[in-house]
Amino acid sequence: MEKYFYLNDQGIKKDIETLSKMIDEKVDGYTRRPFTKWYEQSRKWLANEMEKCGLEVQIDASSNLIGKIEGKNKDLPPLMIGSHTDTVAGGGRFDGIIGVLAGLEIARQLKEKNIILNHTLLIVDFTAEEPSEFGISTLGSRGMVDNLPVEMLKRKDPNGLELYDAIIGAGGRPEEISETALRNGDISLYLELHIEQGPVLEQTSNDLGIVTGIVGIQRYRIEVKGQPNHAGTTPMNMRFDALTAASELILAIEKIANLSYEEQVVGTVGRLFNEPNGSNVIPGKVIFDVELRSLSINAMKKMFGLIMEKTRVVENDRRVSFSIDKLSHSEPILIEKEIIKGIEGVCNKVGKTIRLPSGAGHDANQIARIAPIGMIFIPSKDGKSHCPEEWSEYNQVAIGVVALGNALLYFDEKFL
Ligand SMILES: [Zn+2]
Repeated sequence: MEKYFYLNDQGIKKDIETLSKMIDEKVDGYTRRPFTKWYEQSRKWLANEMEKCGLEVQIDASSNLIGKIEGKNKDLPPLMIGSHTDTVAGGGRFDGIIGVLAGLEIARQLKEKNIILNHTLLIVDFTAEEPSEFGISTLGSRGMVDNLPVEMLKRKDPNGLELYDAIIGAGGRPEEISETALRNGDISLYLELHIEQGPVLEQTSNDLGIVTGIVGIQRYRIEVKGQPNHAGTTPMNMRFDALTAASELILAIEKIANLSYEEQVVGTVGRLFNEPNGSNVIPGKVIFDVELRSLSINAMKKMFGLIMEKTRVVENDRRVSFSIDKLSHSEPILIEKEIIKGIEGVCNKVGKTIRLPSGAGHDANQIARIAPIGMIFIPSKDGKSHCPEEWSEYNQVAIGVVALGNALLYFDEKFL
């Protein structure tokens, strides 16, 4: 038992506080955007800390920062843990950051106890996980698995800088991304510790959440065409109001998302344009985006079918017309049952644990293309994230680190 990890909330606190000072202070909250001097500063610190723990530090072709500890058996594909240290503008101190700092703390404790794993361990700070100025998210993890095509590398930020050059600036070698990318079988298992970014763990008084999968996201754009007209002279029964029609459909989408399906679903309309948007004009055209998320493609299919049915009813009742475009579809990622069970066995010994799906995307989505993945969540205070109020108690983070470390030891033995 002496090889198991211990709670080090003071150490975690120190590291989180150190990174929370390497930010762009001109922006409210905690802002560390990728490819900025603050990002560079934090990576220098991180590389230095990794070296202190005996890790061999390198920057890969996509500019991910990787610390490596050689294992006993060099024939085994490495284990990998990681997350990201970039933030959204006006973000918080925990999202992504704790996953990278967990790796650092695990490396420290392994060194302290002179534990050498069977597998080589890679600890990764993935470049630019959050949506970047290039309109791409999970940049570094995409590159690592050869999912960053030339078309994306040519994209420019608002200042005209090409992503290709930004990656070079961060120490990467974009011309080598494809040939050096990891392929199926190159990694034994990828594990990530992350804040939940939702209210479930806190409201159910749990310490740890084992992620059962990462939801798929389907986005549609709906255009409603009515007839713009004078708001004073057109009687109520002679209107073709696009906004009231859209409103009726949006309320129906909320109801449809509240029905029960084989898996949990969420449905949101978060973006809407109204034309001509004048206080004395009956709205003639409304465009809005519908987003569906679930671990089950079938559940999303059923929801979409119900939304279509309702569309026809509203069209008929209100004599407007709807047209629907598919914007994007990403597949859900289901985590292997054996991995969930393994992580669960470990977590149950560390804290109060439940299973839950991840409603947000992560670097793990990309790594899942080439390796089995597992994720552990810790509670987010009031479910808040991507804002300065984002908070998890240091003790909760420390519990997560121990769970991740123990899971790593468990799979290091299991995957021989
Ligand atoms: Zn994150």
